[in-house]
Amino acid sequence: MPKANETVLEINLSALGDNFQYIKSKTSKVTKILGVVKAFAYGSDAVEIAKELVDLGVNYLAVAYVKEGVALRDAGIKTPIIVLHPQAVNFETLIDRCLEPNLYSPNILKHFIAVASNQNQRNYPVHLKFNTGLNRLGFWKNDVDFIVSEISDTNSILVKSVFSHLAASEDETEREFSKKQINSFNKITEKLFEKLNYTPWKHMCNTSGIFNYPEAHFDMVRTGIGLYGFGNSEKENKSLTPIATLKSVISQIHSVDKGESVGYNRAFKSEALLKTATIPIGHADGISRAYGNGKGWVYVNHQKAPIIGNVCMDMIMINVTNIDCIEGDEVILFGEINRADNLTEENNSISYELITAISQRVKRIIIRR
Ligand SMILES: *Cc1c(COP(=O)(O)O)cnc(C)c1O
Repeated sequence: MPKANETVLEINLSALGDNFQYIKSKTSKVTKILGVVKAFAYGSDAVEIAKELVDLGVNYLAVAYVKEGVALRDAGIKTPIIVLHPQAVNFETLIDRCLEPNLYSPNILKHFIAVASNQNQRNYPVHLKFNTGLNRLGFWKNDVDFIVSEISDTNSILVKSVFSHLAASEDETEREFSKKQINSFNKITEKLFEKLNYTPWKHMCNTSGIFNYPEAHFDMVRTGIGLYGFGNSEKENKSLTPIATLKSVISQIHSVDKGESVGYNRAFKSEALLKTATIPIGHADGISRAYGNGKGWVYVNHQKAPIIGNVCMDMIMINVTNIDCIEGDEVILFGEINRADNLTEENNSISYELITAISQRVKRIIIRR
């Protein structure tokens, strides 16, 4: 791999392929795979990742918002795309770009049917989401009759799939709750499918659900974080590789005398002669101020260097007193070495938050190896 000479996010498509095959190996041959590429494919590069996933044989893609789906269509991606959290204001655009809405409430169902009918759509594919315990988005089980009556009155939409979402699929201590959710989802779909004259697909599992609840794979699984290399457990992490490596470079090295301070608000005070390095990445790039003052660290020449003082908008300063390094040397913020989930675990966060935070200012580099 080339050494970084500026801040870059390297995205390894070979690792994506390996992760995809590993996740696929956990499902049956007939289970379809949906790749979740919302939020710039978890902070990497939505178009590059989506294209690669299509080549790998993914059956479906999902984004959160219509705008994200439009970007994929603009890039020429033709695979079906579910929009997980559409707003009624974007329904014309959604239909125009052949995106498939998640309809999650009586209100949003009525709105969508109105727009689709108005455009004389026939059998426009939609997906119905049921709330089974996350209490975030979704119909309640007692909405089934309402849904059936609305759907029976129109031929403008066709329910392609019915789905739900687990609240704690990575948490062994919540196994009973997850099982209750699966049970409740089975009951809801049974009742709904009885009243429809066709059988939509069912899906429920995110990445950890795939690993922990094979009985809930149904017709399709939805994987996000696993594709990007995080399994939410030590066991699964062994078989997955982080696809993104955030790298930067030492811009300047300083000798800081005992008693001097480093950075804004003089948050760091030196207790001895120190060697510090300044790195061109800051909170505007997605390195939260929470990682300042020793809470976060980077790797320089295979050695751990803590972030000292406050994280600035465009820079961090690190302590490299005991590290053999010079200006221009590469710095690893996270990647295969210095895993993002190690950093977040010690900082009251999760891999999802750190990797999706990397701002669009950071240059993306696509590699395969
Ligand atoms: C984001 C999301 C996923 C992906 O979850 P991971 O834990 O990243 O695999 C799946 N389903 C829904 C509804 C989501 O919003």
